[in-house]
Amino acid sequence: MAHVRDKHTHYESDADSSAGGEPVQDRLARPIRDLRISVTDKCNFRCPYCMPADRYGEGYPFLTRQDLLSFEEIVQLARAFARSGVRKLRLTGGEPLLRRDLSLLVEMLAGIDGIEDLALTTNGMLLKQHAVALRRAGLHRVTVSLDSLDDTAFAAMNGGRGSLGEVLDGIAAAAAAGLDPIKINVVVKRGVNDHTAAGLAEHFRGTGHIVRFIEYMDVGTLNDWRRTEVVPSAEVLGRIAEKFPVEPVDRDYPGEVAERYRYVDGAGEIGFISSVTAPFCGGCTRARLSADGKLFLCLFAKEGHDLRAPLREGADDGALEAVIRAIWGRRTDRYSEMRKNAGTTRGANQKVEMYHMGG
Ligand code: SAM
Ligand code: SF4
Ligand code: SF4
Repeated sequence: MAHVRDKHTHYESDADSSAGGEPVQDRLARPIRDLRISVTDKCNFRCPYCMPADRYGEGYPFLTRQDLLSFEEIVQLARAFARSGVRKLRLTGGEPLLRRDLSLLVEMLAGIDGIEDLALTTNGMLLKQHAVALRRAGLHRVTVSLDSLDDTAFAAMNGGRGSLGEVLDGIAAAAAAGLDPIKINVVVKRGVNDHTAAGLAEHFRGTGHIVRFIEYMDVGTLNDWRRTEVVPSAEVLGRIAEKFPVEPVDRDYPGEVAERYRYVDGAGEIGFISSVTAPFCGGCTRARLSADGKLFLCLFAKEGHDLRAPLREGADDGALEAVIRAIWGRRTDRYSEMRKNAGTTRGANQKVEMYHMGG
């Protein structure tokens, strides 16, 4: 079909079709290593720090089916990212388990050359029913977001939509399916769930699961973030260490975002992601792909780079790789460091929401 080939010619490349070239580096010499892929912008929770219910009510115009990348399109882009240097993929959203047949996508992604780690971040509500299929499809690990074991604080953190019992069952099912070690992500907000943080650490001591406390961040524009609501990681660590002595653990790899600690008595490990009090932009090797195919270079980016257009115009893997390398090669983002240095939030009204770009 000559007319189709004509349309495609613009994006065809001569590049070698195998993966594994040198990772592209940005202007600050940070290689691209991780890609977070958002598979939907919809969610069954309404965490006030992410998708407050009063702004995301019935009738909110979420992406249409046509807007969303298909599984084939996601896989083609993931291949191009792998050729550019990405070694780790994480599926996220929105709530990724709302995307139908997600295990099929996992299976397709697991087969990509160069991908060493394939993970999923979920709120856990639908995990029980999907854990075995995800594992069989080739998923390596899951991170479950769980902000409190106290019913009132749990409901306050997720907008009253979830069930604590379902999330705990989901974690158990994931562990039984072999999706471990499981990470439990806990956003800590002053006056809402901070009094329950040490209880979470205690609950998961000795299970092999790693609880990670995340400083509440000023992502997006809709959560009315206030610095006074941020609980510095040092404070949470202090409360836990009062009861269970801990010692620091070296980072696993350059670019790891969590500061790690282990219990001195050998009962496991906890982590802290301190993007407000101790930013880690210098080692940030992470790219984000939104469900409609935009590439974001920073969690606090004001805009994304459209990869869906070249994809739908017929770009081949080599051409997409060239586009990705060019975009990443110009990257200079280091928002959290700048926020810390300036002591303020810059351009606060123009950032893209986290559920959209993939948290
Ligand atoms: N729905 C899934 C979930 O909640 O795990 C995946 C998407 S969610 C956007 C990814 C992660 O971002 C979650 O662990 C969530 O707690 C975190 N998150 C969202 N908004 C945040 C904020 N304002 N500050 C810190 N973490 C946030
Ligand atoms: Fe949904 Fe996750 Fe955002 Fe909560 S943090 S609203 S579960 S996408
Ligand atoms: Fe990376 Fe941006 Fe976060 Fe810095 S602020 S660590 S550049 S995502």
